[in-house]
Amino acid sequence: MKKYLLAPGPTAVSPEVLLSMAQPILHHRAPEFVELLKRVKEDLKWLFQTENDVLILASTGTGGMEGSVSNFLSPGDKALYINGGKFGERWGKICKGYGVLTEEIKVEWGCVVNPADVAAALEKDPSIKAVFIQASETSTGVAHPVKEVAQIVKNYDNCLMVVDAISAMGVFDVQTDAWDLDVVISGAQKALALPPGLAFVSISEKGWRQAEKCTNAKFYFDFKKERDAIRKNQTAYTAAVSLILGLEQSLKMMREEGREAIFARRATMAKALREGMEAIGLASFPKEGASVSVTAISAPEGYDAQAIYKDLRVKYGITAAGGQDQLKGKVFRISNMGYLDTFDTITAVAAIEMVLKAMGYEIKLGTGVGVAQEILLKK
Ligand SMILES: *Cc1c(COP(=O)(O)O)cnc(C)c1O
Repeated sequence: MKKYLLAPGPTAVSPEVLLSMAQPILHHRAPEFVELLKRVKEDLKWLFQTENDVLILASTGTGGMEGSVSNFLSPGDKALYINGGKFGERWGKICKGYGVLTEEIKVEWGCVVNPADVAAALEKDPSIKAVFIQASETSTGVAHPVKEVAQIVKNYDNCLMVVDAISAMGVFDVQTDAWDLDVVISGAQKALALPPGLAFVSISEKGWRQAEKCTNAKFYFDFKKERDAIRKNQTAYTAAVSLILGLEQSLKMMREEGREAIFARRATMAKALREGMEAIGLASFPKEGASVSVTAISAPEGYDAQAIYKDLRVKYGITAAGGQDQLKGKVFRISNMGYLDTFDTITAVAAIEMVLKAMGYEIKLGTGVGVAQEILLKK
């Protein structure tokens, strides 16, 4: 059976990237590697839309999140985090691990944070030193209004805007510098269509000033050490050299396509999937702010989303994702990230129709596919 990876991470990797990673291992202090890092560094700045250094860490995305707490906040400091899903919740857990006191804005799953709530929380407690948010909350398929929240946070000199863009950067517009985002995190295996194992973090001047005051204990994720290294086109410890070769290829392909073209293509895929599902009576889970990166789809009344997700895999070789925690059995999720194109979206819609039909769901096969085709049709 042919396999299709349509999960919102890890995502499918292109043959070009896979082949580039098959090159012989470079020594991480060799001149060729220094040259490679110099190129990759510039391409990452292009991707992040920033003039800041972008750190390259050998870790998954969570390592980037952890470092974004441990490098800027000291025990006893206060942070505000937006909790509208599994990844928002993780900010709270990391802060707790570092003795950082937290204020939480709980957002109903499937909804976006109201920027006015952030404004009110900061007004009430101006000692808050960071606001932690997700650009795309992968567990619910919602994109929070990062730009609007950042406009509030930037008025507080001692408060950083920290954005987990792990499933956003490279799929839709996230403007690090223009929107005054102080710390922005991305990861390899979602939007960048690489195997897991790299995290990227950009840090503003304001962020570095706050890092100077941080008394927290840290070692591996010491961002200042990584900054000093990346300025010399190095990493502090052994770089994940093969992954960085893959990264170079992935970024090269992204630059060739162009940021705007990528954003438009991904948005069209997400729209085709969403409307294809609606055409067969399946609603998209988010009530507002549906993310382009991942489409969370509610199972029809009386049908188990876990069974749909399982049948996609067992019958048709498609790996999607189920729902997490309270959404388990209620939603399944399809990625619009990774090495995917028009016919992956069609495949997803067609397979979901077939799985549902076999379960007894009343449907005229091809209904959703037709709608998706109309949207994807290149004129
Ligand atoms: C996947 C993901 C993470 C965690 O990344 P890992 O690479 O699994 O550590 C964090 N935030 C978001 C929004 C994600 O999608």
